[in-house]
Amino acid sequence: MQNISKSKKFFSQAQKSIPGGVNSPVRAFKSVGGTPRFLSRALGAYLYDVDENEYVDTICSWGPAIVGHSHPDVIKAIQKASNNGLSFGAPTIGETNLAELICNFLPSVEMVRLTSSGTEATMSAIRLARGVTNRTKIVKFEGCYHGHVDSLLVKAGSGLLTAGNPTSAGIPKPVADETLVLPFNDENALKLCFKKYGKSIAAVIIEPVAGNMNLVKPKFNFLNQLRKECDDAGSILIFDEVMTGFRVGLNGAQGIFGVTPDLTTIGKVIGGGMPMGAFGGKREIMEHIAPLGNVYHAGTLSGNPIAVAAGIATLNILSKNDFFENISEITNEFVTGFLSAAKTYEYSDFSADSIGGMFGLYFHKNIPGSFNEINKCNPKSFNHFFHTMLENGVYLAPSPFEAGFLSIQHEGAPIKKAIESAKVAFRKLKNLEKLEKNSC
Ligand SMILES: *Cc1c(COP(=O)(O)O)cnc(C)c1O
Repeated sequence: MQNISKSKKFFSQAQKSIPGGVNSPVRAFKSVGGTPRFLSRALGAYLYDVDENEYVDTICSWGPAIVGHSHPDVIKAIQKASNNGLSFGAPTIGETNLAELICNFLPSVEMVRLTSSGTEATMSAIRLARGVTNRTKIVKFEGCYHGHVDSLLVKAGSGLLTAGNPTSAGIPKPVADETLVLPFNDENALKLCFKKYGKSIAAVIIEPVAGNMNLVKPKFNFLNQLRKECDDAGSILIFDEVMTGFRVGLNGAQGIFGVTPDLTTIGKVIGGGMPMGAFGGKREIMEHIAPLGNVYHAGTLSGNPIAVAAGIATLNILSKNDFFENISEITNEFVTGFLSAAKTYEYSDFSADSIGGMFGLYFHKNIPGSFNEINKCNPKSFNHFFHTMLENGVYLAPSPFEAGFLSIQHEGAPIKKAIESAKVAFRKLKNLEKLEKNSC
């Protein structure tokens, strides 16, 4: 057994002064049970907890650490920037440099505003879309997450095309009423929705590759259909690429699927591990932002020089040397290893998928295409698998509703280690399955 006595102690201490002991709910291990590991440091593909246990990290800070933890170029950039001061509340040339990089890599983005988180980016993009169109309704998709924005913490209502219900207390009903929630990958629902509400829809926001209900890819033509409906109705199409931007490819999911959104939100990777988000898009839309226009957006730490330095250093690494070909291969090798480990132990209720440096593991025979299908995955099997992996030095996301993320530094030993642990975990799962069968 792993020694996790310090994590246990720190977790119970944390719960006295921090709700649930964590500053973001998934960290509390509620869905899998057990003690969240308190971490002390991270290097390359590895995490170290306060008891000095080592783990292969398959979360990478939920995406940002795509060049590996503590990459020397990123650390150096942060150290250099911090010598000149931490925050000025006035413009710096670094912000323009980062903005130009983003506009270069995401051709749909002609102008961009920096924020301090992905949530701020989506919140501001929604306000902008409403401000520009003078409309109120927002369409989102079941299972997609866009940060903790009131109007986006909404799930489907009682029937298709009825107003949404809040997924959190504290969200006024009139706010949720303005959000329509459709099933992901359902072209028919999309058509019906636009037929009924088209002229009052300010914006559609979507994760073009969903990563907050586990990984779910868009079906052929779904994003094109979305683009067409938005064009016909005069609604703004927002791709929330906070997760997929600089994670699935150098030009985002929009580059891979060849669909051009009006606005794009990004975050995670662009801060290189520092707090950062951004929203941008067509010049004629972005020019509505204050001080040019009448849609307000601001931030004391927006474009913070240390975060900007980390972001630029990270983008410089991932824009060179076939970075995305390599990380796609590494991630593919990872999921292929898991699939063949499952096969070795004849564990059949398992599938896996990946795109760029992002992957999904599903305790179901087939790769899911919607939130509904994700819910058919077996949470008990995931739970067992998760804990065996953790015990064997592999840190998976502590929930079956999360995608996984690797870095360029996972090549070789870290991946081998993860696959070896997966063999142990699948063997245990298969034995458990046999035991359960015999007992009934
Ligand atoms: C993480 C995430 C957000 C929220 O970003 P924060 O920085 O956590 O506020 C928004 N949208 C998507 C798609 C995300 O994955």
